[in-house]
Amino acid sequence: MSGQKFKVLVVDNDVLLRDLAAVFLYEEYEVMEAVDGQDAWEKAQAWHPDLVVTDLMMPRMHGYELCTLLKGPDGIKGVRIIVLSSKTFATDKEQAFKAGCDAYLVKPYTRDILLKKVRELLSGSDSRETPAAGPAPFAEECGPEPSSTPALAGREKLPVTVRFWGTRGSCPVSGQNTVRYGGNTPCTEVRIGDLLLIIDCGTGLRELGVSMAKEFYDRPITGHIFVGHTHWDHIQGFPFFIPLYNPKNNFSVYSVHGGHGSLRSIFNETMAADYFPVPLCNMAAKLRFIEMSGSVDLGLAKVSFIHLNHPGICIGFRIDAQGRSITYISDHENFVKLNGDNVTSRRQDMDIVNFAKDSDILIMEAQYSNEEYLSRKGWGHGTFDDAVRCAVEAGAKRLAITHHDPEHSDDIMDTHIKYSRALAGSKLDCFAARDGLRVEL
Ligand SMILES: [Zn+2]
Ligand SMILES: [Zn+2]
Repeated sequence: MSGQKFKVLVVDNDVLLRDLAAVFLYEEYEVMEAVDGQDAWEKAQAWHPDLVVTDLMMPRMHGYELCTLLKGPDGIKGVRIIVLSSKTFATDKEQAFKAGCDAYLVKPYTRDILLKKVRELLSGSDSRETPAAGPAPFAEECGPEPSSTPALAGREKLPVTVRFWGTRGSCPVSGQNTVRYGGNTPCTEVRIGDLLLIIDCGTGLRELGVSMAKEFYDRPITGHIFVGHTHWDHIQGFPFFIPLYNPKNNFSVYSVHGGHGSLRSIFNETMAADYFPVPLCNMAAKLRFIEMSGSVDLGLAKVSFIHLNHPGICIGFRIDAQGRSITYISDHENFVKLNGDNVTSRRQDMDIVNFAKDSDILIMEAQYSNEEYLSRKGWGHGTFDDAVRCAVEAGAKRLAITHHDPEHSDDIMDTHIKYSRALAGSKLDCFAARDGLRVEL
């Protein structure tokens, strides 16, 4: 190459992995680093890189959204994009190409593999693995700032309660074999004084709605709904949540930008006429959709998120309130188990552990036994061993195991929970989340 060097922007929130990629590229290219999608988007507009090498799972703005912006109408003309991710699910690769990436490399990678792909793309000699479809126009979706619920006065600590309304993973179940652990899909209610938070909108949300309608009668309800991801089992209760049909009520729905469009558009589509008789716009409650780009401050509670290892976009939450903490990790597959024991995978597993550090309760999925996992590797879920290990390493006080496999009857669950409790030892209070269970923190 003669004359001016090509400009390459390297984007990764993990400083070690970002530096590593930058070092590989430094000799041949002018390199700039960005700490996440948002930082990259701002730097790209000012610096006009020829190529962007980006991770997918990043705070503030994920890689799919960055690709969409870079290749969109207000993007960087002629820019090429390499996604460099540890996500090995086919759907992530597909979505990344749909968002506009030109190549998809999986971590860990070698210097030669990265340089070869960068050279190919910058010389225009690449043979694209998948034709990059034109990027979908980026739908601007910014709701108003989340309203914080006024704090109850007083210096005494407010009660913090967790209540499970749905703990079944993947698909709701019913019948005699699942009476004790329950059959509704994920929905967890968290109350901090009068502040109401709901995590996930599985079928358990319907019963929560009935209970709240009785509790509040004519009083208006304000609630904050956090959605880890929008697979069916985590949103199916949403249209059946009756407080959403009362004009007195006020709800904010939080998650990150979707793979192909805004958070609101995803909910809008699932309530289209082909799927449900009432469109989203006819829900009478005041409803806002807020795409998180960092922690949310609700006054009495701070809610932060982390990207999880699951097909598509999926995040876990941590609620810090009144000196207590609740961490929710579902649906998630252990990185080392899926991608092999290497520095990248170990660091990513450690990120999850650190996110859950010292939680008063870690609510974590464990869908499979070790034997079942062998034939379900790559499905984006974990085992009882994974959940217990994570809770022990994080120093969590309690572990509530959730997202029970639909095939696990009450008797099977008893066996798995007994096994998990033995594994957890005496320092960790390990139990199964089950529909209706209430835990005071
Ligand atoms: Zn799920
Ligand atoms: Zn899922």
